[in-house]
Amino acid sequence: MKQSNQVFNNVLDLVGNTPLVRLNRIVSGFKGQFYAKVESYNPGNSSKDRIALYIIEQAEKQGILKPGDTIIETTSGNTGFSIAMVSIIKGYECILAVSSKSSTDKIEILKTMGAKVYVCPAHVRADDPRSYYEVAKRLHREMKGSVYINQYFNQLNTDAHYHSTGPEIWKQTEGRITHLVACSGTGGTISGTAKYLKEQNPNIKIIGVDAYGSVLKKYHETREFDEKEIYPYRIEGLGKNLIPGATNFDVIDEFVKVTDEDSAHTAREIAKTEGMYVGYTSGAATQALKQLNDEGRFKQDDLVVVIYPDHGSRYVSKVYSDKWMKDQGFFDSVNQEALEKIEYIK
Ligand code: PMP
Repeated sequence: MKQSNQVFNNVLDLVGNTPLVRLNRIVSGFKGQFYAKVESYNPGNSSKDRIALYIIEQAEKQGILKPGDTIIETTSGNTGFSIAMVSIIKGYECILAVSSKSSTDKIEILKTMGAKVYVCPAHVRADDPRSYYEVAKRLHREMKGSVYINQYFNQLNTDAHYHSTGPEIWKQTEGRITHLVACSGTGGTISGTAKYLKEQNPNIKIIGVDAYGSVLKKYHETREFDEKEIYPYRIEGLGKNLIPGATNFDVIDEFVKVTDEDSAHTAREIAKTEGMYVGYTSGAATQALKQLNDEGRFKQDDLVVVIYPDHGSRYVSKVYSDKWMKDQGFFDSVNQEALEKIEYIK
């Protein structure tokens, strides 16, 4: 059957080509036009499908991976799911070393997707042989024919977005994009997309979103790794306590920091105003838009693209739980609305 009839050989044919959806009510009164690149339309529901597929296919091209070989990574998050999904279709073993902090739900999902999961103690140093980094490295050393994805330090992570996300946004906006706003974790998404866009038009402003408690913004401004910036925060997937080799700081114009609380409320607001049930970092990126707009940074004819990296279903018991929000103290200020609208008929 023809693929043009929306018929596909397998789920991997659905990776990429995600829609750009106009934001309406959440940006009402803002100057400019705002579009979200909605990455939950990937088959694994996040932007990480792009890097899993790209990195694995590059390894195949270089003859590093043969059927039955093993792919290793240290994550219980979106990347783990995407690698497991690609491994199923392509016939590889998938090993994920995760922290004991990972929820049992996440571990169950990875197991369902055929991954072998090593749960490693959370409260040991990164260089302890029991840490998930060290366990992954050891397994990689011991297993001939294994590939360690190592997304924070793998240039191919960035290249994946250079070859897909960047060209898609350029084409979808017909070259009219003026600003890109994207969360930075490994930095792969923002760096790869930015490099492509700046090659088309060097005037496009690239704005990274960072968390309080992360070192990225300060490093970008000073090239100093300041450990004093580091403290725990709740948003998963953006910011970091190290300098990721996959981030190209030169193509990013500036970083904006957002709080856990503001980002959580903004994620819930996106659901209520735009009807999009998106992840916590989509809330963070939209929170950055609000802060930039408040600073008068956009003009009427600007076209701003914001990346929405994943789907809200991963956060049902976090930002989308009133109880979780209360436990974090996120309802302590006035004017914050709970989602609960349940009536129990007895
Ligand atoms: N949002 C979420 C939910 C993520 O999992 C990640 C990846 N860590 C990001 C944003 C940031 O993407 P990147 O790693 O490409 O910087």
